[in-house]
Amino acid sequence: MKKELTTPPELICLCKKCMYTWTPRKDHPKACPECKSRAWNK
Ligand SMILES: [Zn+2]
Repeated sequence: MKKELTTPPELICLCKKCMYTWTPRKDHPKACPECKSRAWNK
């Protein structure tokens, strides 16, 4: 049996400042890894 390697969409973060998307290692990342904005989800 093969398992799908697709990442569930709820685990992907979208920075509303620079529109960068990434998969966080933590549940609630403090800052966007691209633009370092702490208000990436606002
Ligand atoms: Zn960003």
